[in-house]
Amino acid sequence: MVVGICRSFRDRALGRCFHFFPCLSDPARRSSLGLKVTLVTLHFIYAGILFLFDGDLVYKTKKEPWYTSLYLLLFFVTLVQYFITSGSSPGYVVDAMRAFNETNEVISGLEQRQSASSKNGSLDATVEGCQSGRIFQGSNSASWTKLVMDMYPPGTSIRTCICSYCNVEQPPRTKHCHDCDKCVLQFDHHCVWLGTCIGQGNHCKFWWYICEESALCLWTAILYITYLKGNISRAWWKDGIMIILLIALLISVIFLLLLLLFHSYLVMTNQTTYELVRRRRIPYLRGVPERVYPFSKGVSSNLYDFCCVGSRIYSLEPLPSAEEIEEKSRPYTCLDVLTCRCC
Ligand SMILES: [Zn+2]
Ligand SMILES: [Zn+2]
Repeated sequence: MVVGICRSFRDRALGRCFHFFPCLSDPARRSSLGLKVTLVTLHFIYAGILFLFDGDLVYKTKKEPWYTSLYLLLFFVTLVQYFITSGSSPGYVVDAMRAFNETNEVISGLEQRQSASSKNGSLDATVEGCQSGRIFQGSNSASWTKLVMDMYPPGTSIRTCICSYCNVEQPPRTKHCHDCDKCVLQFDHHCVWLGTCIGQGNHCKFWWYICEESALCLWTAILYITYLKGNISRAWWKDGIMIILLIALLISVIFLLLLLLFHSYLVMTNQTTYELVRRRRIPYLRGVPERVYPFSKGVSSNLYDFCCVGSRIYSLEPLPSAEEIEEKSRPYTCLDVLTCRCC
């Protein structure tokens, strides 16, 4: 009886809440929002307890405000980066397809105007304004299907490239995410803490976020250790809280630094977490020897693409040919080392 009343009261409260916030009616969105609130709250708890307990830090802030200002700046920059990454698009195939179709429409419109001008005797129509044509090189008057099929080796069946959930042709390195229910270009993983996929469009933002989060956690851990070294045995309960928080923080620091190193390695070799973990199961990687990175263009080119190209445009990468794979699997010679083949 009591349980039934409680349940109906809860259902009514939730119904009223969903009426004002319709986005919360989706359980996946609710859990994602819950994790986001937890993460932001943890940040404020760690910083708040530090300033509440550490009198020396407050005194130091008054004496040398730049030190605390820098720490607080990193704190807010990290949170802003978190929300930017969380709200960014990972590069959905449907969006790339829409951009491709719009580009095609612009180009064909310009072509029609150009031919009309030529007929009238004036040749002033140019396609200079269409910068986005660069995104899909050679795509003029082609269909999305043709563009995608050109990225696979000749003879590949179109059926193997179609996602059965979205019903769109997937370019190479794409995977359907069941949490987002969309196909993601250069799918890396679905991050539950950010509530979004990490893919071509936001991998760079994600890398910067874990870099800033690692620096913030490390700095906070140093402040906690400094407090414990200077204030041990003054108030045991304060020390107890600080020690528990510090242990959790040190575990987070180790995890974040390893994650940062791992993603730096992926960036330098132009791989994704999904490709590395499921290498033997992914059809286009099955025949590629171990330690050969089929999409790598050299460390410096990979870094340039990652920082300057990846998040701005939908750059689609064709599958490397058998000759390219053979060339990449060739053992290193002294000349290769001198000419920096890996760079
Ligand atoms: Zn899909
Ligand atoms: Zn996802």
